[in-house]
Amino acid sequence: MLFQFLGTAAAEGVPALWCCCERCVRSRQIGGRALRTRSQAIVDGALLIDFPSDTLDHLYRNGLDLLNVRDCLVTHTHGDHLYPTDVSMLRAGFSHVPPDYRITFRGSEAVRDALSGVLLQPEREGSAAFEVIRPFEPTAVGRYTVTAYPSIHDPAAGPLFYGISDGERAVLYAHDTGYFRDDVWAYWKETRPRFDLVSLDCTNACLPLTYIGHMGLTENAEVRRRMIDEGYADETTVFVSNHFSHNGIHVVYDDFVPIAAREGFLVSYDGMKIQL
Ligand SMILES: [Zn+2]
Ligand SMILES: [Zn+2]
Ligand SMILES: [Zn+2]
Repeated sequence: MLFQFLGTAAAEGVPALWCCCERCVRSRQIGGRALRTRSQAIVDGALLIDFPSDTLDHLYRNGLDLLNVRDCLVTHTHGDHLYPTDVSMLRAGFSHVPPDYRITFRGSEAVRDALSGVLLQPEREGSAAFEVIRPFEPTAVGRYTVTAYPSIHDPAAGPLFYGISDGERAVLYAHDTGYFRDDVWAYWKETRPRFDLVSLDCTNACLPLTYIGHMGLTENAEVRRRMIDEGYADETTVFVSNHFSHNGIHVVYDDFVPIAAREGFLVSYDGMKIQL
């Protein structure tokens, strides 16, 4: 399994639109891995996770072709994860696609509602579909088994995070979420999953937690310890901190790498590939 981070920022991007804070100014100066676009990832170049407004840029920069993508998991409706206007570019006259092309978006009912205006028009029905995915119900998605988990995040955005397995390797992509809910830990106690890659919400980096529904490095480290203690990960599991806000303390890529390493985490960057 090849997992690739395409965009690794929270809503505003890093550096943020307009922002002249110290982290944004330095990130602009450093460039490269310090520049973060909005959240998206892809498994094996085929299973897309989220569809933000930076999707077009991600495709160009990484040589990806949406015609190879037949499935897209959407975590929630926030704009850094879902931009329905670009989904509507699939309609007749805006994109010319092969007659047998079809992409299925999956997510919560809130995501379905957010996309209903762009997916349900007759001229697009053949090319795009939507299926509601329910928490704790493993679902076949292409050649993968996907399990959705409820997330502690803005309830109005219908937040889910995802476990994705190809039968040999498994990834947990946990965006956006605070510390995991008790029912997630209880489900794992029963089903005993094991993950090879875990990507955790690190919106706050080293900023003490001020907003329920995201995490920083302190909470990432608590999740990691508990996952290892309870057997869902081990020392070979790759843990990645991801989804950063420019408001996070020490969030500039070069600053955060050694700090995160002390807690056993890699730091994501746009384009980062992890071969499992
Ligand atoms: Zn987000
Ligand atoms: Zn800033
Ligand atoms: Zn969000």
